[in-house]
Amino acid sequence: MDEPVLKGKHALVTGAGRGIGRACAIALAQAGAAVAIAARSRPELETLAAEIKSLGVRTLVCPCDVTDREQVERMASAAIADFGTLEILVNNAGSAKSVAFLDHPDEIWHQMLAVNLTSTYYVTKAIAPAMVKQRNGRIINVASTASHVGARYVAAYTAAKHGVLGLTRALAVELVGHGITVNAVCPGYVDTPLTQIAVANIAKVTGRSIEEARRMLEQKSPQGRLITAAEVAAAVVFLARDSSFGINGQAINIDGGAVQT
Ligand code: NAD
Repeated sequence: MDEPVLKGKHALVTGAGRGIGRACAIALAQAGAAVAIAARSRPELETLAAEIKSLGVRTLVCPCDVTDREQVERMASAAIADFGTLEILVNNAGSAKSVAFLDHPDEIWHQMLAVNLTSTYYVTKAIAPAMVKQRNGRIINVASTASHVGARYVAAYTAAKHGVLGLTRALAVELVGHGITVNAVCPGYVDTPLTQIAVANIAKVTGRSIEEARRMLEQKSPQGRLITAAEVAAAVVFLARDSSFGINGQAINIDGGAVQT
C-alpha cells in the first residue's frame, strides 16, 4: 500500500472546531499529517481531537482566539515546541456578517477585518519563522469567491477577503526563496454552520422559508448546489503535498464555476 502523502508532516489548522476547518483537519490527518487544531471552543476541539487520534496520527488541542496577537503567539510557540516543527499552516478561521452599507456599524467593519484578515497576518507571522528555519512550508489561506468579486451587504467581509488574497500573493513572492509556498482556496457557498446562519438571516429578512432561502444560495452556483466542506479540504490537502511545490501565489476557486477569474 502507498504511504499516506502527508506522513511525517505537521499541520496547524485555525478555526478547526467546525465547518471547513474541521474538514481540513480530518483530511490532513487522513493523509497522514499530525494536526494541531486551534479555535476558541475547547469542547469542540476535544471531540475533533478524539476523531483525529482514531486515525492513528498525533493531534494537539490549541484553544486560541486568532484575533488576539498574544494568544496567537502563545499558541504558535506551544504547537512548534510540541511537534518540533510545522510544515503546513491552514489559515481558516473566519466569520461573515451581512449588513447594508448605509447602516454599517464601524464595529462590524473592525470585527470582519480582525477575524478574517488580521488573524491571517498574526498566525502567519507567528508560524513563518519556523518554516523559514527548515526551508519548507505550505501556507494555505481559506479566502472566498468574495476575494475576487463584490456582493451586496457584505462590504467588510469582501474587503477583508480581498485582503487575504492580497496577503497571499505578496507572501508567495516574498517567502518563495525559503522553500515556502503560499496559496488561497476560494470557496463559493459551502454547507457549514456559517452558511446555515446566512440562510436563516435571508429567510428572516425576505420572509421566505428556510428551504427557499437555501435554494437562493444554491442557485448562485452553476451546479445549483452548495459546495461541501470535504471538497474544500481536498484542495487544501492537494496544495499541502510536496508535489505541489510549483503552485505558488494561486487562488483556487471551489464554487462550481460561479466565478471564473
Ligand atoms: P464556521 O462558522 O462554520 O466555522 C468557523 C470556525 O472558525 C469555527 O470553528 C469558529 O470557532 C472559528 N473562529 C471564528 N472566529 C474565531 C476566532 N476569533 N478565533 C479562533 N477561531 C475562530 O465557518 P466556515 O463556513 O467553516 O468558514 C471557514 C472559513 O471559510 C472562513 O474563513 C470563511 O470566511 C470561509 N468561507 C466560508 C464559506 C461558506 O460558504 N461557508 C465560503 C467562502 C469562504
